[in-house]
Amino acid sequence: MGRIRVLPDQVANQIAAGEVVDRPASVVKELLENSLDAGATRIRVEVEAGGRKLIRITDNGHGMNRDDALLAFERHATSKLRTADDLLSIATLGFRGEALPSIASVSRLLLETCEPESSSGSRIEIAGGKILRVEDAALPAGTSITVQDLFFNTPARRKFLRAESTELSHVTALVTHYALVHPEKHFEMLSATHTLLQAPPVARSAERIYQIFGAENLGQLLPVAAEAPLEHGGLPEPPPWKRDPNEPVRELGVLRLSGFYSKPELQKLNRNSIYIFVNKRLIRDRLLMHAISEAYRNIIPPTSFPVVLLFLEMPSEEVDVNVHPAKTEVRFRQQNRIHDFVRDSLRAALISSRPAAGFLAALDAAPLASPTLMPSPVEHLPKPSEDAPIPPGEPGADGVSPDSTFRLTPPSLTPQPGTLAFEPHPGQFGPESTLENWAEAATALFSPAVANPISSCGADTLAEEQAQDIANTATMTAQVEVRREQANLNSLGSLRPLGQLRDSFILAVNDDGLWIIDQHVAHERVLFEKILASRDIEGIQRQRLLMPLLVDLQPWQMAVFADIADELEKNGFEAEPFGPRTLAVKAAPVGLEGRELERMLTEVIEQTGGSETNSARRQDLETLRGRIAASIACHSAIKVNTPLESQKMDWLLKELSKTKFPTSCPHGRPRALRYSWKEIQRAFQRI
Ligand code: ADP
Ligand code: MG
Repeated sequence: MGRIRVLPDQVANQIAAGEVVDRPASVVKELLENSLDAGATRIRVEVEAGGRKLIRITDNGHGMNRDDALLAFERHATSKLRTADDLLSIATLGFRGEALPSIASVSRLLLETCEPESSSGSRIEIAGGKILRVEDAALPAGTSITVQDLFFNTPARRKFLRAESTELSHVTALVTHYALVHPEKHFEMLSATHTLLQAPPVARSAERIYQIFGAENLGQLLPVAAEAPLEHGGLPEPPPWKRDPNEPVRELGVLRLSGFYSKPELQKLNRNSIYIFVNKRLIRDRLLMHAISEAYRNIIPPTSFPVVLLFLEMPSEEVDVNVHPAKTEVRFRQQNRIHDFVRDSLRAALISSRPAAGFLAALDAAPLASPTLMPSPVEHLPKPSEDAPIPPGEPGADGVSPDSTFRLTPPSLTPQPGTLAFEPHPGQFGPESTLENWAEAATALFSPAVANPISSCGADTLAEEQAQDIANTATMTAQVEVRREQANLNSLGSLRPLGQLRDSFILAVNDDGLWIIDQHVAHERVLFEKILASRDIEGIQRQRLLMPLLVDLQPWQMAVFADIADELEKNGFEAEPFGPRTLAVKAAPVGLEGRELERMLTEVIEQTGGSETNSARRQDLETLRGRIAASIACHSAIKVNTPLESQKMDWLLKELSKTKFPTSCPHGRPRALRYSWKEIQRAFQRI
């Protein structure tokens, strides 16, 4: 007798369930997706005991007739696909026809469904994959699916479930995501005792974000929108001789991006606050994660992460969603195009909004472990794998324990005198929160914040920032619309210096409010841009040293010097070997002398020596130039603890206001902080 046997359906379903449902949140995900696919505009999610005991999803979608309702529990039974070709352009969230039979095989399930025009609906009861009861019933239009005792017949799985609160946090995170991407729909989530989310329909994503996260967090986010036409389709075209001349030319469509991104001072320790939706499907994608990190490169440290909500829209044939049973991974047909589009659009938005650190916000700027914008890590989503082209040194997605971070409402910051007038009270989802209120509050929140320039005396960082800029301006294709800040850095030009704080920070005022400017990093930025500009035009002002400065170097450093000597010369240096291990510097850019000059040279040499091969060193001329300029700027900029006369402060502020790319420094350190007029008034309780 043969050894091979075809598995009974029930076993096959349980195996599939292993891939599709591994915890209550994944059940909720599948059921929610079904409700959305059914065109529901109102969806209620109820959970008990973190979903272990009960999950019920009720929608007002198109429902099913009795035959369909029974068929829905057969494996691979779906209304969303007909042919294999349909797989190439999937417009629904589901398509595999696996979810319902899988869930039904590991729980006690009750389906109640009714089509809108039908006089009666159907009720079907299933336990562990066995149909127990099918009957007609008078039901409201739509579908309600109740899943009880999840994994009651698969104890091994049940054991893997985590604490109720953890499971609940995953469910909440999931519902939150879908609520975010569908602001026009009504989402409710209830536990046995509480309303966890009540989000009536709103017109715009900003309002939905406000409903879910509150004013505090929304205030930290800026909107972005971009659009770019596709130059070619991702699917192969038939050769010209096979093409039917009567067939209309295929529309290529456009890439569209909208969403929100955080100002540089809002930094997270992990990626849990980055949400990417492709055609309204929540996905985890390391390509797009990388694009986002690239956009923020040198704006926040490589070990921190921004908060980003990205909604990408593209023709459905441009994205293959049939990659993973849980449908959380996708494959783009034009990967590079999409990667660059996201990176460039976000980068351009970051540059043009020039977000400024509000005075109080900056105090909280350090990446914090607990205040996440969203509930806990979404563990059921596959994590980006190891080979991801992602900057090293980032903490894992689980850097923070889910329980400690779970929060549906925004974390409260340190108490500050005065609160925003429109800030909702705790328990904010009461009936008094009308649509108008949301809208008004959301609009108010997007009124201008102010831009700030930031930098630090960080060696390579200015240089990379510069190189990145050059690259971006060159490749920018996306049309980016960003709400421009009214008061941006240009308003620095109108500042009147009042004096210095401990000879290190300049205090200045204008109508915007009170500013505090870090004199060293501000001057550094000014010098950096000047050096780069004058290097291209008339050359750098150099000064001849009275006595050559001798700098001792190791042999490998001498070799690096030989490599970059030309470039140094163009930047105003005159230096030559003086014996095998010594360098004699005879001239240097104005303002750079003594110990600082020596430090600057060794710094550039060490950084450049980091590149592995000569050719890599040479190829990266742009980086080298930036690096040299950054290093000169850092070492000749006004130091802290230096008294400044008022003309000098005045000059510095004017020059700073003219700098080109004054966003944040790579370490998130601000260059200028503003204590706005509003904040001041509020603090004194005048408003
Ligand atoms: P898929 O979503 O991949 O098609 P499922 O197993 O999740 O597979 O669902 C099977 C079918 O049941 C769907 O194709 C759909 O026709 C129907 N269905 C499931 N949930 C609902 C719902 N809430 N409202 C209407 N029809 C539904
Ligand atoms: Mg489905």
